[in-house]
Amino acid sequence: MSNNYDVIIIGAGPAGYVAAIRCAQLGMKTVCVDNWFGKNGQPALGGTCLNAGCIPSKALLESSHWYEKLQQDAPALGIAANGITLDMAVMINSKDAIVSDLTQGIATLFTTNGVEWLQGRGQLLSDRQVQVSLHDGKQQTITAGHVILAPGSAPVQLAIAPLDNDRIVDSAAALDWTEVPGRLGIIGAGVIGLELGSVWRRLGAEVTLLEAQDVFLSMADQQIAKSALKSFRKQGLDIHLGACVKSAAVMDDGVHITYENTDAEKSLTVDRLIVAVGRQPCTEGLATAEAELVLDEHGYIHVDEACCTSAPGVYAVGDAVRGPMLAHKGSEEGIAVAERIAGHHSEVNYELIASVVYTHPEIAWVGRTEEMLKQAGVDYRTGLFPFAASGRARAMQETDGMVKILSDAVTDRVLGVHIHGASASELIAQAVTAMEFDASSEDIARTIFAHPTLSEALHEAALAIDNRAIHIARSRRR
Ligand code: NAD
Repeated sequence: MSNNYDVIIIGAGPAGYVAAIRCAQLGMKTVCVDNWFGKNGQPALGGTCLNAGCIPSKALLESSHWYEKLQQDAPALGIAANGITLDMAVMINSKDAIVSDLTQGIATLFTTNGVEWLQGRGQLLSDRQVQVSLHDGKQQTITAGHVILAPGSAPVQLAIAPLDNDRIVDSAAALDWTEVPGRLGIIGAGVIGLELGSVWRRLGAEVTLLEAQDVFLSMADQQIAKSALKSFRKQGLDIHLGACVKSAAVMDDGVHITYENTDAEKSLTVDRLIVAVGRQPCTEGLATAEAELVLDEHGYIHVDEACCTSAPGVYAVGDAVRGPMLAHKGSEEGIAVAERIAGHHSEVNYELIASVVYTHPEIAWVGRTEEMLKQAGVDYRTGLFPFAASGRARAMQETDGMVKILSDAVTDRVLGVHIHGASASELIAQAVTAMEFDASSEDIARTIFAHPTLSEALHEAALAIDNRAIHIARSRRR
């Protein structure tokens, strides 16, 4: 085994493993160093997303959704669903099997593409050398023409709520409980708090979310965020805004939490507590001083718009660099860097990275929110269409939410699309595609959508911009 490569990649999450495969496709001799251990104690590719994030949470969101639907909605459809029971061990095993299949799938992709996988911890030295502390205790120094750093991120921990990995846990541990907690507290009503809160509420927990900000989902369009908050509260998620947690301690009868609200200090006792207050880049010990890798004050690797770091020939992608901590953003950066190393021209359009919250209904958006447009002084027009007016949504009993399109008042170019509704995560791809092609709302309005589909709500929202949506009563049109 030679120690010289065209490209060394540190990290095999969605940013790193995708970069590795693309480098190999482009004919480069590629090695990917990763130190993740799966639940079975074996090295596993895929990083947080596959092992302890996106995929396992979606598996549990799906299973818990079925459980709730069968109990709540089936009877009204004439389906007798009596005696439904929950076997958490089976549900968790099924989730683990999905994760294991997918991580093994990446190992197969590495093999078939000729990517070498070094199982251990990589540290960047000077001159594009990487020291690898292998899991078997050996050390190996490898070198390459280019290095891509993709070390990912880890949950932020709070000193006021120290994890004990039993009663007080982070987002990864909350994917493995084999018993449903009676009372579940969550610090943070962000993306992770809402997704995990939804899973455990559907399975029977009484869920309280404590969110420090006064504004719910501040990064989302606020009309959409308000619509979502209403749905979540109707479902039974007890969401407290402006509630800053001050302490959390494990006692005999549960976890005692104190938090400050606008007027007073309050307390809450729960059986289990999830800390979901954001993620931070995993850059500690990633490089020696000789590597001359510049980090910012929060530990993010400093990069330019082409993902070049301060160290010559060294790039960084994914959660450990600026921009949203999203798997698809990291993957696109990984692909773009691989292509640039191979001498191709490649760019990431940071303006059009969709965000999704996988609750039910889902929340998804791309482009600018109404608040952003107002702040920037852009003159815009709005088209809204509620799912309650969609035939398909009614047939599916999925009438919550709406599609909202914002377009430039002068050019009609679509500036933002915001969806709260069933399958929003899938619907938003149509908006991203349209916006990639610089579509106007008129382009979408003149496109023929299949009937009956949820997608028609996007069509109608585009028509609504010009006050000509078909399925909105005349009196309700602007
Ligand atoms: P987040 O930033 O979305 O939400 C954390 C929330 O915790 C914030 O709203 C913050 O105000 C609140 N908070 C912080 N300290 C608090 C305190 N002491 N008391 C009460 N509230 C407090 O972070 P997250 O939900 O942990 O997610 C982490 C990252 O992972 C995000 O960047 C997210 O985009 C990404 N992620 C994405 C998805 C997805 O795409 N569906 C899923 C999971 C995670």
